[in-house]
Formats: sequence, C-alpha cells, structure tokens
Amino acid sequence: MTRILLLGGTTEASTLAKTLAGAGADAVFSYAGRTAKPVSQPLPTRVGGFGGAEGLAAYLTAEAITHVVDATHPFAAQMSTNAVQACVAAGVPLCAFERPAWQAGEGDNWIHVDSIDSAVDALPEMPARVFLAIGKQNLSQFAAKPQHHYLLRLVDQPDAPLPLPNTTVEIARGPFDAAGDTALMQRHGITQVVAKNAGGIGAVAKLTAARSLGLPVIMIDRPELPGRPVKGRVAEVIAWLAHPAS
Ligand code: NAP
Repeated sequence: MTRILLLGGTTEASTLAKTLAGAGADAVFSYAGRTAKPVSQPLPTRVGGFGGAEGLAAYLTAEAITHVVDATHPFAAQMSTNAVQACVAAGVPLCAFERPAWQAGEGDNWIHVDSIDSAVDALPEMPARVFLAIGKQNLSQFAAKPQHHYLLRLVDQPDAPLPLPNTTVEIARGPFDAAGDTALMQRHGITQVVAKNAGGIGAVAKLTAARSLGLPVIMIDRPELPGRPVKGRVAEVIAWLAHPAS
C-alpha cells in the first residue's frame, strides 16, 4: 500500500497534487501555514510544522507514510533538511520535486550573491528604488540600507509594522506575467530588482520585465541542501513513486 506525504508550498506541488488526486493516490498535502488563505488542494491537507525532524519522523510512522515528496520552495532549507533526516530515521524513501534554477540569458544583467546579507551589501549606497521580490521573510536584513525605497509584493497584508521605513506594498499572488510586471516596475520607477533564484514559471516574469527595462537583478543563489534524489517533472516523480530506488 502506497501512502504519500507531499510537502507543498509551490506551484509545482499543486501540479503534482492534481496528478496524484486524478490517479486516486492515497496522499496527504502539507502546508507550513505561512499564508492566510493557502490555495486549496484536491488532496487531504494538513497545515503547520511537524516539530522538527523528530516530529516529522514520528508523523511518518503514525500516519503509515510510505513515500515523501519534498516539493517545498528551493529556499525552504530547514524543511528540506528535516525531511532528509526524518526519512532516514523512519526508513521512508524521499525524493525532491524541484524546478531547475533560472539561468541568465542574453540581455540579462544579474549580480549573483550567495545570501540575503550579500544581497543587502550589493545594493548601492545612493538611494535607489528597489523591487524586493523575496516574499515577507528576511525583510529586516534590508533595514541596514534604509535609504532605499522598497517595493514589496506580498500574498497577505502585513499583520505587523514592516521593518523598513520606506516601502510600498503590493498585495498579489502569482503566477505573474511579464507585461504586468513591466508595468508594475515602470509605475514605481524601479531601478533594481532583488530576487531569490526560485526557478519555475510562476515568478519568472519579474526577470523578463527587468531584462526588457534594462534593470540589474541582484540574484540570490539557492542554499546548499543535503543529498537526495531530485526529480524535475511530474512524470519522473510518478515513476519514482513506483520504484523509489530509481
Ligand atoms: P523553512 O524555513 O525551510 O521551514 C521552517 C519550518 O516551517 C520547518 O522546519 C517546518 O516546521 C515548517 N514547514 C516548512 N514547510 C512546511 C510544509 N510544507 N509543511 C509543514 N511544515 C512546513 O521554510 P520557509 O522558507 O519558511 O517556507 C515555508 C513554506 O513556504 C514552505 O512550504 C515553502 O515551500 C513555502 N515558500 C517558501 C518560500 C521561501 O522563499 N522560503 C517562497 C515561497 C514559498 P517544523 O520544523 O515544525 O516541522
């Protein structure tokens, strides 16, 4: 009997959930619970942390999970590390469903950095108008450069004062398109973009828009994660579920 835990929070996780539900798979979808109204899924859904790697290992055993698919965001490093440890402890096979990183192409002006702090350092000293397209986490680190105006795009209205003095907040949920993001950046007179190298199609529009407007992008590279099999397509995940040693 196969029973799958799908760790979600990405467009790709939702796509996989649809396929699994369509195939009648016994699967549970898991959200961290970061957004007020998460996209509803066609699978039984649980919300909230497991309580670290130990809590997740206990959950896997209690729920008789036979396979874990980690389709969290490439920057959700804590969850992905916990998943590797928990699956080893519980003896449950794990694979990641992860979109490839974005690559700079002709006309792109990307400055690669390896952390949020390096992205802050890469911003100029002179006041600029920055599209800080990194979600709501890690905003406080940008308080080190309070001279800039920051355009933030968030899923939910902030429920606490923002740690940055000079911001405009746009409430929107992806996927986004290039025409809309170009207009947004023009409307706000953006001079640079800060992005996480998430990959995928849902959030690539800001990079297309930056290229067409000739704007520099400070690109935060992905965090290092423990080794695990990584699949890039739904069909590969389905094949792995049938033969997890592959
Ligand atoms: P994180 O730092 O790696 O995880 C922090 C803790 O949140 C985990 O230790 C776990 O708590 C809980 N958690 C994370 N993902 C979970 C899931 N799918 N189901 C149940 N618990 C989960 O993660 P994060 O960067 O805060 O991201 C949180 C969620 O937002 C993820 O699902 C991710 O896919 C999504 N997301 C993240 C980003 C980003 O830039 N980081 C962007 C878009 C979407 P316990 O230790 O208690 O189990």
